[in-house]
This record gives sequence, structure tokens and C-alpha cells, in this order.
Amino acid sequence: MGWNDHLDETELELPSLLNELLNSGELDNDPMAKGIVQKVIQEGEASLKGRQVNVFSRFIRPKYIDRECSRCGTVMPYSEVAESWNNGGLCSWCVQVGTDD
Ligand SMILES: [Zn+2]
Repeated sequence: MGWNDHLDETELELPSLLNELLNSGELDNDPMAKGIVQKVIQEGEASLKGRQVNVFSRFIRPKYIDRECSRCGTVMPYSEVAESWNNGGLCSWCVQVGTDD
């Protein structure tokens, strides 16, 4: 998976990003995902077990955290990810230049 190769600083920012995810209401219809995110915030990703690991790494991470811009394909820094949940998956640069193709 290579996740552990990421920089330490991105790991430090993950809880705050996950807090934004909870507050955004994105997971309100998915109590299981919500519970897993809360657990990661409180106890860290290493505390997940069994199916929780799969849900977090295969569903939550690609959908809400490790996002590529839907327009230019750039992997977004955590600082831009939260905004992209509501703007069609665009990085800040693509938001600025506009969404018309
Ligand atoms: Zn982009």
C-alpha cells in the first residue's frame, strides 16, 4: 500500500481533516464509517481492526482523504481536501481557473 511512506506531517494533520469530515455531515448517512472515523481521531488508525481497516483504507481514504483532483489529477494536499468534498472534487488551482472544459 505504501501508506507508511507518507511524510510524518501529513499523518499529524489527519485527525483534524477527519474532524472536518465528521463536521461536514458527509458521513451522516453512514454510521459505520462515522464510527470508524471517530475511532481514528481518538485512538489512531492503528487501533482499527478487521473490517474497519478495510472500510477505512478502501472506502474512506480514497473517497475523502487521498483525493486526486477530478480535473487535473493532482493528488490534493490535506489542506485542500475538505473543500473538494463540496466542489466536485477539484483542487484549489482548478477552482480558480474555473470548471468549464
Ligand atoms: Zn486540479
